[in-house]
Formats: sequence, structure tokens, C-alpha cells
Amino acid sequence: MDRNQMRENLAEVPLWDVCIIGGGATGLGTALQAAASGMKTLLLEQNDFAKGTSSRSTKLIHGGVRYLQQGNVKLVREALEERGLLLQNAPHLVHNQQFVIPSYHWWERPFYGIGLKLYDLLAGKLGLGDSAFLSSKETLQHLPTIVSNGLHGGVLYHDGQFDDARLAISIAQTAAARGATLLNHFPVTSFLKSDGKIAGVRATDALSGKTYSFRSKIVINATGVFVDAIMRMDRPKHRSIIRPSQGVHLVVDRKFLPTDCAILVPRTDDSRVLFAVPWHNRVILGTTDTAVKEPELDPKPLQLEIDLILRNLGQYLHQVPERKDIKSVFAGLRPLVKSSAKTTAALSRGHVILKSTSGLFTVTGGKWTTYRKMAEDVIKRVSKKGRLNHALFDTRQLRLHGHDLPVQSFHIEGMTDAELSERVRHAVTHEMCQTVEDFLSRRTRQLLLDASVALDKAPQIAEIMAVMLGKDETWIASEIERFNRIAMQHLPTFNPELS
Ligand SMILES: Cc1cc2nc3c(=O)[nH]c(=O)nc-3n(C[C@H](O)[C@H](O)[C@H](O)COP(=O)(O)OP(=O)(O)OC[C@H]3O[C@@H](n4cnc5c(N)ncnc54)[C@H](O)[C@@H]3O)c2cc1C
Repeated sequence: MDRNQMRENLAEVPLWDVCIIGGGATGLGTALQAAASGMKTLLLEQNDFAKGTSSRSTKLIHGGVRYLQQGNVKLVREALEERGLLLQNAPHLVHNQQFVIPSYHWWERPFYGIGLKLYDLLAGKLGLGDSAFLSSKETLQHLPTIVSNGLHGGVLYHDGQFDDARLAISIAQTAAARGATLLNHFPVTSFLKSDGKIAGVRATDALSGKTYSFRSKIVINATGVFVDAIMRMDRPKHRSIIRPSQGVHLVVDRKFLPTDCAILVPRTDDSRVLFAVPWHNRVILGTTDTAVKEPELDPKPLQLEIDLILRNLGQYLHQVPERKDIKSVFAGLRPLVKSSAKTTAALSRGHVILKSTSGLFTVTGGKWTTYRKMAEDVIKRVSKKGRLNHALFDTRQLRLHGHDLPVQSFHIEGMTDAELSERVRHAVTHEMCQTVEDFLSRRTRQLLLDASVALDKAPQIAEIMAVMLGKDETWIASEIERFNRIAMQHLPTFNPELS
């Protein structure tokens, strides 16, 4: 995947079949589905692939035990099927993860245990392993650092765990191999219209400043929490359909959960579920559900969200992480579709596909786990319009890029200078990495794994990238400055907004 090559492709296609706005899970999946079905496919992402919500998830490929509690069996069944397919198609980035729900009340074990048997049943032959009732002793063997006082036992079950930003890049590479043209750092600024109907988009290459017009038979808005802004470009009077909800995660040292098993806390003091999940030799703690007014690309964690996570997990862990133990904190915004639900936690996680009177398609909602199904549904829907005469390719068995290659490293700690240069070279030449942040946040996950290491390494990365991209000292200085500003938000001890 080479960005210069992608830019050269632009001149070769006078009329695209499908133009997708947004390079998160939904947009990338849609690009793959369209390209695999033989459509001339263009995807434009305003910042980097997965810069939005798709790099800020809890990193679970799951049916959603919680949605079962809400009685949403259809959603759970669909997600469980997608979970099974993803484990087959991206085994390099998705794996089977054991979870334990520790029980401190007599009724919890039978209550959650029966629910999880149903979860196993719904997964059918794509199941990842049977759930099981655990005694107190077995629970402590799985989770050696939880509070033993009052423990009645636990319930063990299986779900998927993955690397979200890396999966996004893998989907982009698979789509590119199938002929899609994908460009990051390329915001869509307005629509081309003909007789009131959408006929394409105007966009700018943010790295060169050059502006473009692209004609396309179909335009799909896959911009997550930003879908309303794009719908307003089409129809200024559009009324918002998204109620963004913020979720915060904390990343701490493995010593707080020195096991391969994850914890699910079924009910926090604000009635949410909370996870502690091993991830790349660290532990992710989260998440929250805070309604926010305006979506932003770099949402800011709130002090009260951090406190809520530490306080609730503190009731389960022997050694409670404190603020100084947080290696990185990150926030993401859920693109929840509005309904009459009172709280954001009660809003549906299902996806929706809408078509405006001018012909703009919008696909949003859903979750990472169901990105393939969302893509299939939206491409099926646009194909029905009749202007695209392509048979829908079945992506259920499509292996994703990298499944048969060595896995690229997720962190850079302990790398020699030569190893680091090689990792940067690979990211720039094969993964369209264009900024220091692209590298430290999404090609590797160093910013999320340990923000202070990322801050220390930023100048060296900027120097290496400058040589590869032909940039000067001014670029290096501005990249370091820009990265530092973003990285500070990940360090709760430095971020003045959290003090
Ligand atoms: C806290 C949290 C935890 C979650 N955990 C999980 C989980 O464990 N498992 C799971 O399955 N799901 C999870 N989800 C849900 C999942 O992450 C999201 O549903 C999914 O990432 C949304 O993807 P998207 O592509 O629709 O949106 P995004 O990833 O936000 O992508 C939209 C993209 O559109 C781009 N864009 C916006 N405007 C323009 C423009 N004008 N031009 C070009 N591009 C534009 C943005 O830059 C952005 O990159 C979680 C969500 C949150 C918030």
C-alpha cells in the first residue's frame, strides 16, 4: 500500500462506482466489500485510517454479553457469527480470550452462568469454547490478584480479543490488493451534485494542499460520530441522528493482572460492565459511557471517568492501580443512533443504513465486531439501486492481509536503532504511515501502551521519517510539536485538564 501510487490511481478513473467517506472499521470494510465485488472503489479518510473511534475500542471481538442481558438476541447472534469468522480470517490479529466473572454474591454464579450457556449456544459451531462454573479456588487460580474475601466462585467464558488499529490497516491492505484506491489525510469538503442528486465529492490532499473533484455513481458516508456533519453538507437542515457517547480506557502494568485471563465486572456503580483485559503485555481497564455534545477527533478523558474506573476495579483487585500507575489513557466516541432511550448505555448497538433524497448513503452504528456485516449490508443496498451491476462477493471466508506473514511489532520499547528504522521504513512504504502520530499510535501502539516512551521516541521517529519522506527540519519540528500535544492527553499526570 503506497500513498504515491494511490494518488497516481486518482487520475486514471474518471467515474468511480463507489466513493466512501471515512477510513474507520465501517468505511474500510465497505471499501473491501465493494472492491472485492469488482466495483471501482475510492475511500477518503480526513486524517489517518482508524484515527477516530476504530483505534480507541476496548479491543474485544465479542457478541456482547451485556446485550444478551438487554434481551437483544438477534444482535448477539449476528456478532457471535462475525466473531467466529474474524478469528478464522485474521488469526494474526484476533485471538480467543478467556474471561472470568468473579462472584461475590451467591446468586451471581447461577445468574451469569446460565446467561453464558445461552451465549455458547448462540455461537453454535463458531463457538470459541464452553463456559464453565468455577469454584473460589479455581477463580483465584485464573485471577491471582483479585480480592479473595467473600468470593463465591466465578464463571469462565470465551470471547475474541484483537488489535483494532492494526486490523484496520490489514483490511485497508486487503482492499488495496483487490484494487481499491484508499487515501488517508484526504478530507472530503463538499459534494458534487447534478440536478440535486449526489454526483461525487470534492476533497483536499491535506499533505500537499491540492484539491480534487471525484465523480462517483454512489457516495457512502461512513464517518462514525461525524455522519451528521457530512449529512449537513448534503442538506444543511439535517437533524442529528447520532448521540455520541464517550468511553475511556486506562492502560496499566501487567503486575495488576499477571495472568492471561481477563476480568468482566458485570455491574459498576453506574450500572455498566467493566473489563480488565491483558493486551500486548499490559492491561486495559475500561470503559465508561458519558454522553457528549459535540464529537471531536481527539476526545478528552474526564477526571471523573478515570476515577470511576479505578474505584470500581479497586473493589475487585488486591493492589489497586493509582493515577501514577497509568501508562496511557485514551478516549473514544461511540456512534450511537438516537432513540427514545434515556441513557447512552441503553441505546442500541445495531447498525443503520440511510439514504437521503439526493442519494447519499449513510452507514453507522454497529461495532467493530460487525464491520464486515455492515459493509455487506450497505453494498447490497447500493447494488439494489440498479446503477451498479456487480454480483456481491462473499467476504465470509476472505482471509485478511498478513494472516500468513510475520506479525509487525506493536511496541518499540527495547528496539535497537536499526530495528526501529526498519519498522518505520515498513510502516511508511507498506502501510501509508505519514506522520509521527500515525506511527506511534496506530502502526505501532506505543502511544497507548506507554505514552511517556512514545514522547521520548518522537524526535527519533520524526528524523527517520523525514529522510524517508524527503522532509526538512521545519517538518520535523512541527511533527514533534504536534505529536507532543496529542501525547500529553494520554498522560494523566501531565494533562492539566485532568489535574
Ligand atoms: C470506548 C469504546 C469501546 C468500544 N469497544 C468495542 C469493542 O471492544 N468491540 C467492538 O466490536 N466495538 C467496540 N466499540 C465500537 C467500535 O469501536 C465502533 O463501532 C467502530 O470503531 C466505529 O467505526 P466507524 O468506522 O463507523 O467510525 P470511526 O472509526 O470513527 O471512523 C470514521 C472516520 O471518518 C473520518 N471522517 C470524518 N469526517 C470526514 C471527512 N469529512 N472526510 C473524510 N473522512 C472523514 C474520521 O476521521 C474517522 O476516521 C467501542 C467504541 C467505543 C467508543
